[in-house]
Amino acid sequence: MNASSDFDIAVIGGGIIGLVSAYKIMKSHPKIRIAVLEKEEKVAAHQSGRNSGVIHSGLHYTPGSNKARTCIEGRKELVEFAKKYKIPCKICGKIIVATKTKELVNLETILSNGQESDIEGIEKIGPERIKEIEPSCEGVAGILVPGTGIIDFTKVADKLARLVQKRGSKNKVLTSHEVTALDKHDFYTKVITNQGAFGARYIINCAGLQSDRVAKMDSVEPGMKIIPFRGDYYQLTAQAQEKVKGLIYPVPDPALPFLGVHFTRTIAGSVECGPNAVFSFKREGYGKTDFDWADSWDALSYPGLWKMFFKYWRYGLGEYARAFSRKLFLRQLQRLLPSLQIDDIKPCKAGVRAQAIDPGGRPIDDFKIESKGNSIHVLNAPSPAATASLAIGEHINQLATEHFKLED
Ligand SMILES: Cc1cc2nc3c(=O)[nH]c(=O)nc-3n(C[C@H](O)[C@H](O)[C@H](O)COP(=O)(O)OP(=O)(O)OC[C@H]3O[C@@H](n4cnc5c(N)ncnc54)[C@H](O)[C@@H]3O)c2cc1C
Repeated sequence: MNASSDFDIAVIGGGIIGLVSAYKIMKSHPKIRIAVLEKEEKVAAHQSGRNSGVIHSGLHYTPGSNKARTCIEGRKELVEFAKKYKIPCKICGKIIVATKTKELVNLETILSNGQESDIEGIEKIGPERIKEIEPSCEGVAGILVPGTGIIDFTKVADKLARLVQKRGSKNKVLTSHEVTALDKHDFYTKVITNQGAFGARYIINCAGLQSDRVAKMDSVEPGMKIIPFRGDYYQLTAQAQEKVKGLIYPVPDPALPFLGVHFTRTIAGSVECGPNAVFSFKREGYGKTDFDWADSWDALSYPGLWKMFFKYWRYGLGEYARAFSRKLFLRQLQRLLPSLQIDDIKPCKAGVRAQAIDPGGRPIDDFKIESKGNSIHVLNAPSPAATASLAIGEHINQLATEHFKLED
């Protein structure tokens, strides 16, 4: 290939963020030539295809943060997108349930965050209303969040991939193309993949669990490291499914908001419970004992990880114990659904979260998207990035338009 002129933009990563970025840029710059390079055989093979499938309302996030703003905007756009392209999606609402009085302070904080962010229809509910909505659930108080929904994000990613390619042969989604190096030249970058090299004027890094490594390929010091946390899910058996009508969430700890298993009636009709969060010895490892030397060394040689371990070791041990003991996992689920029994749950799937940790050992909470030279790097896109994806894509389009000086 003529390395200097293949594409205007190479997007690295065919998860939902890479695909939506290509889609938004292509829509506002119809003449552009974009390639999305994805190392797996299909798009959405990692986080985007292995998540809870919840369309979040935006309630949990600090009012005014990028997370809160893009979640609210993106959720509305996602529902419209799903309607337009006939992707099954349901706004079923959820309840957040405090099971102990000591959780009431955090419940109030979530409620006031939600009110400040103008999340529509939220209301505080008592034990009787909880029982009316979810008869098997026990709680001292809760919040009803009518705007929460469910969707299959793999279907959204597949649709985006088809839309990117539909506009004309100049835009491509190339699966089984792993980017292994970036060779920078004055006016273009030679993007080296396992299937040959491509020339691109600009690079957008949306590599999820590998985003810090791709940034380094581009000589960008990301100022954080991706630490993988695996989340295991169980599924309720057919007989137990009636115990859950919709979505039931615990009150999260504000320091570690991604901890706390929840119940989700999925768009396919099954009921999933989870995920927990355990340090994973492999960035893309979905089995409980998966191990990769390079990934483990990379994580364990990072001082930030040890600082985080020392701070949160109690939580970490608890999560580990639950990962290997169905009984302990059940005990956590029983806080919300006391009648649940060991035979009611069976293991189903796992996902791995790309959590960016700063050198001080703090999980980076908000989205982190940076532009430098001829590149944009999405360095942290944790939950609710799938919900917020269309708004994040628009933000990346605006960054690219300005920063790369794209023409219409
Ligand atoms: C367990 C779990 C539950 C979640 N639940 C929800 C939820 O209910 N709602 C919600 O909104 N969000 C949820 N999230 C978060 C959401 O799934 C992610 O924020 C979102 O999918 C991130 O998308 P992404 O495109 O950045 O990453 P990914 O989907 O991981 O995509 C990155 C892609 O880059 C590719 N790639 C990496 N390196 C290279 C390379 N060198 N060359 C080519 N390709 C490369 C990978 O193969 C991958 O396909 C959850 C996440 C997890 C893990």
